[in-house]
Amino acid sequence: MSMKETYTIEDLLEKVKKYQPDPNDLEKIREAYIFAEKCHKGQFRKTGEPYIIHPLNVAIILTEIYADKETIMAALMHDVIEDCDVEKEEIDEKFGLEVGRLVYGVSKLGRINFSTENEYLIDYYKKIIVGMSEDVRVIIVKLADRLHNMRTLWALPEEKQRKIAKETMEILAPLAHHLGIHKIKSELEDLSLRYLKPEVFYDIAEKLNKTKVERDNTVNEMLKYVTNLLTEHGITHEIKGRAKSIYSIYNKLNKGRKFSDIYDLLALRILVHTEQECYLALGLIHSKFKPIPKRFKDYIAMPKPNMYQSLHTTIFGIDGYLFEIQIRTYEMDEIAENGIASHWAYKEHKDASVLMQNTTEQKLQFFKSIIELNEDKMSTEDFVNSVKDEVLNNNIYCFTPKGDIIELPHEATPIDFAYKVHTRVGETMVGAIVNNSIVPLDYKLKNNDIVKINTSKSSKGPSREWLNIAKSTQTRNKIRAFFTKSEKEVYIERGKEAIEKELRKRKIAYDEFYTTEHVDTLFKSLKISSLEELYLEVGNGKNSAMMVVNLIFKKEEEPIEHPKKVIVKNSDTDILVSGIDKVKVNLANCCNPIPGDEIVGYITKGNGISVHRCNCHNLEVLERRNVEVHWCENTTDKYMTTILIHCNTRENKLIEMLQKINMLDSGIDKFVTMSRGDDTIYEVDLYVKNLQHLEKIFAELQKLPYIKRIERLMK
Ligand code: MN
Repeated sequence: MSMKETYTIEDLLEKVKKYQPDPNDLEKIREAYIFAEKCHKGQFRKTGEPYIIHPLNVAIILTEIYADKETIMAALMHDVIEDCDVEKEEIDEKFGLEVGRLVYGVSKLGRINFSTENEYLIDYYKKIIVGMSEDVRVIIVKLADRLHNMRTLWALPEEKQRKIAKETMEILAPLAHHLGIHKIKSELEDLSLRYLKPEVFYDIAEKLNKTKVERDNTVNEMLKYVTNLLTEHGITHEIKGRAKSIYSIYNKLNKGRKFSDIYDLLALRILVHTEQECYLALGLIHSKFKPIPKRFKDYIAMPKPNMYQSLHTTIFGIDGYLFEIQIRTYEMDEIAENGIASHWAYKEHKDASVLMQNTTEQKLQFFKSIIELNEDKMSTEDFVNSVKDEVLNNNIYCFTPKGDIIELPHEATPIDFAYKVHTRVGETMVGAIVNNSIVPLDYKLKNNDIVKINTSKSSKGPSREWLNIAKSTQTRNKIRAFFTKSEKEVYIERGKEAIEKELRKRKIAYDEFYTTEHVDTLFKSLKISSLEELYLEVGNGKNSAMMVVNLIFKKEEEPIEHPKKVIVKNSDTDILVSGIDKVKVNLANCCNPIPGDEIVGYITKGNGISVHRCNCHNLEVLERRNVEVHWCENTTDKYMTTILIHCNTRENKLIEMLQKINMLDSGIDKFVTMSRGDDTIYEVDLYVKNLQHLEKIFAELQKLPYIKRIERLMK
């Protein structure tokens, strides 16, 4: 953002005029300025300037995101209630209720009482919630206010600098990020870093400066090349080299990237007119420069939760330099820079403030989360930690299989994901698949993971152990809530919901179903005496909702709902995994289970489910990684298992045994012969249909006189 030493009201009006030329509006802004100047007369800032310079600069910052006249006026007067004892009513009277409300909103936000840090934060967050739910423009003025205060932070004593910088980094920069106001966010971060970690800040700045010329030359060359390429193909566009913020470099270094890797990474941004041209441009660039696998991101098809849209790719550009390229339309660029405030930039959007408010409440997931947290009854400490760690900072973004983005705290698990989608999903989850691999429930999700939650209607709800696994306070509270309600209540609620769902599905009105006569019929046929009992029996699975509804409204036979068990194809096994379809299943080669064996599934790290015999000693007993598995009823394949045949002779009897096994419709894969004194032991891998088949082979072999003992081998 541009900065100048001293601005005047004329500079402000000049800037507003560019996008809001109505002379009446300009006159009102001038009046607000004159009023504020009069109020602040005789007051000075720590920088030594007259106080009015501060609100004037806040207003100037807001012109860069094309703020409307009410917001500009509120910015000019944002400190008069607090610092000049002006009453809200006076502002209402002079400038109208809308401006009065904004000024009052910003003042309330500034007036924070605190004795401990936690109390201070809870107060702050609650005020932010109130501010945003009343009018998001209040928060935008606050952000501009903070930005100007950060720019002049040098004037304050060091201790205060650090305190304000910390608050900015922890609360205001994330807030700007979530509102999508990248311009303000990025400057707030750089300024905070400068006061929090001056050595690091100046070190990065200096290194950037030193390599600037070289980098600029390479960027310019690449820029020319890409411009020609796009022009040749008739794509009108603009292209910019783009500076990385010092904070973003610091962040990457913090994540373990090397200095040189980051400096070598050059950046371009391409602006085009249509979405289609974005993809065309991408295709052209990829046809000339090799992209780095996995670095391509399509945020056009899947926008970020703060509405950001763009295509990202990293390619090997000229001279072997890596280039990070962003491709987006002008409108997407406006949103990327100004987020929620971009509504102001589009003239055709008449009532920008209404649109902004709606977008805040409906589209910004973090706003919903913060409101939800406020509604949960949690302790001060939990609330503060939740907002700080789980809403404002360190978030990761994962996808549902349909491509919806779910925002989660850093190190969240599939349990957090499931509960975030819906409490019901969390309570019925039986497993999770991340990027096509089954994962244990304590798996730490990463950015861009695609997460599928498997649920089962027969699930009895969360396990208490989940309390130790779930990352977010919100998830843990929901799990705790489940246990504090008695199980019975949960079942009753569930049963009621199930019946209602069934009725909706069949388009039967509730009134039509719950008539006195129908209820009587239900009580008689089910031998119960209250609706509660009815719900309970449906909720705990004794009766199905469909069956209950059928008692009143008969319907052609439909199969009774069973918990979903799907036959696993393409895995050469006949294993069914409870509640999960299409998962990779391997038969463990330590115990080699065959149909008929009691089996259990074990969730491996990244290699699907490994199926063991229940008595296999390799099976880890960690309950959370075991999953119920079954054999299909009619298995057709043959399965390999290993047996040990102990013979009391040193003569080679292998041929005879092989013949016998072959006659029994089995086959041998391989064998090992071992001698023990006078005995010979054969370790034989053979194929059998199932346990019965194996038992038959055992029985036949036992008939051979030299065989002492046969057993199955477990390695
Ligand atoms: Mn201020």
